[in-house]
Amino acid sequence: MTNWADRAAALTPETRLFIDGEFRPALDGATFDTIAPRDGSLIAAVSAGGTADVDLAVRAASRAFEAGIWSRADRRERARVMLRLSELMLEDLDELALLESLDSGHPIGDARRVDVPNAARTMRWYAEAIDKMYDEIAPAPQNALALVTREPLGVIGAVVPWNYPLIITAWKIAPALAAGNSVVLKPAELTSLSALRLAELAARAGLPAGVFNVVPGLGSVAGEALGRHPLVDKITFTGSPAVGRKFLSYAGESNGKQVALELGGKSPQVVLADVEDLAACASAVAWGIFYNAGQTCHGGSRLIVDERVHDELVSEVIAAGDSMVLGDPLDDATQIGSIASAIQLDRVLGYTAVARDEGISVHGGDRVRPEGLAEGFYVEPTVFTGVDNSGRIGQEEIFGPALAVSKVRGPADAVRVANDSAYGLAASVWTREVTTAHRVAQQLRAGTVWVNTYDVADVITPFGGFKSSGSGRDRSLHAFDSYTALKTTWINLGNSPLTND
Ligand code: NAD
Repeated sequence: MTNWADRAAALTPETRLFIDGEFRPALDGATFDTIAPRDGSLIAAVSAGGTADVDLAVRAASRAFEAGIWSRADRRERARVMLRLSELMLEDLDELALLESLDSGHPIGDARRVDVPNAARTMRWYAEAIDKMYDEIAPAPQNALALVTREPLGVIGAVVPWNYPLIITAWKIAPALAAGNSVVLKPAELTSLSALRLAELAARAGLPAGVFNVVPGLGSVAGEALGRHPLVDKITFTGSPAVGRKFLSYAGESNGKQVALELGGKSPQVVLADVEDLAACASAVAWGIFYNAGQTCHGGSRLIVDERVHDELVSEVIAAGDSMVLGDPLDDATQIGSIASAIQLDRVLGYTAVARDEGISVHGGDRVRPEGLAEGFYVEPTVFTGVDNSGRIGQEEIFGPALAVSKVRGPADAVRVANDSAYGLAASVWTREVTTAHRVAQQLRAGTVWVNTYDVADVITPFGGFKSSGSGRDRSLHAFDSYTALKTTWINLGNSPLTND
């Protein structure tokens, strides 16, 4: 068995900005500390990109785009480089997974089994799609040819959060690069290391200089500079609603760039009285919220359960949560790792206090300290029961291992409560009746609905939200819509001018 803590201690991660094919410090030499949430220790000081660094990166991306070294490269050449990158990511599995686990607090087992393979598969999937996308010929009059072609947008600014750094990065950069764009990536300040490693691998795979740039830095500095840069054609963002809205303002106040937002959720897991297999349901409900310590945008953070199965289900969910192994992310046996930061820990614990103040019954909800890790950021699986869906615990995204349970009676009541949310990212329904399943799935306002399961996801299907959960879609061939624009070309095939008569 690998001793991951020893391997982590021996790591010397790349910490500099990656701009125009080279690693270099920030122009003003600024850095910020990145902390290991497993024990609160310092991992490294990472270069903090400033406005001038972002400008350099965007100009490099723009030059590369205009030069056509990637944007006009043969599609098969783009595919070859991206396939090589996907292979290199898998060859680098342990190192990438270790950086991800150390920096974010994901269990190393999940990072090796899910995060890195998922990101590599995403890269491969879009590489393989490059030469399977056909353009259109419009039904123009006989004397004309009207072509409708997809063109890359130009420079894409990708701003990503800390909860799934590699996976979310891959969802954005793989279709963007496949379509021929240049990219400037701003990772979250908590988790820059896997992105910098990815830049190293991308260069090794043969991605030309300037096509992919990584500028770690503070959101309010590097993120804002990217959002306001006049040479950025599109921002693709995942993170909090407040910051997502700032990107809309930056766009409006600069060049009117496109903005796609994925802003989290308060996703309901709806369980009706005729649920077929209560034990399977309880396990899915528990994993749906406690996986990655609840720091999942589509985490099933509300359980909306029919009163006829409420007590039995809740006790099974509590038992399932309590039986999950909470501990050091660098231990292969760990199933629930740490919360990503001290700030996020306080935020999550703050909601336990809110629930207690509001008289909600709380199971778990406190900080725990796995043996030998006194300074790490860990919270027990938490189940709030008797939640009024319209209160803070029912409405606000906690982003921790916390499940809010509300009792309902019948499908119509369940749908009403489930849809009583500003968010609309994901939802599930558990029932043995196929008609009920279809009807409820149709009525739930969410970008993804699962029936008798939770959190099944793959690059083959689109992902994104309704309402305040955002706009645009990551994943699937539809993601190309986000990173391309349609161009119309009219060609006169006759000897006289074309007219609109
Ligand atoms: P955030 O929205 O502040 O950060 C996301 C990204 O935006 C990061 O790269 C950050 O550097 C950047 N950013 C922050 N402030 C910015 C600004 N003023 N201008 C431009 N860019 C900026 O998210 P967070 O602080 O990491 O987490 C706060 C809350 O957001 C969480 O508790 C959770 O509720 C939610 N969240 C949602 C998701 C999701 O997947 N939808 C992911 C992470 C966090």
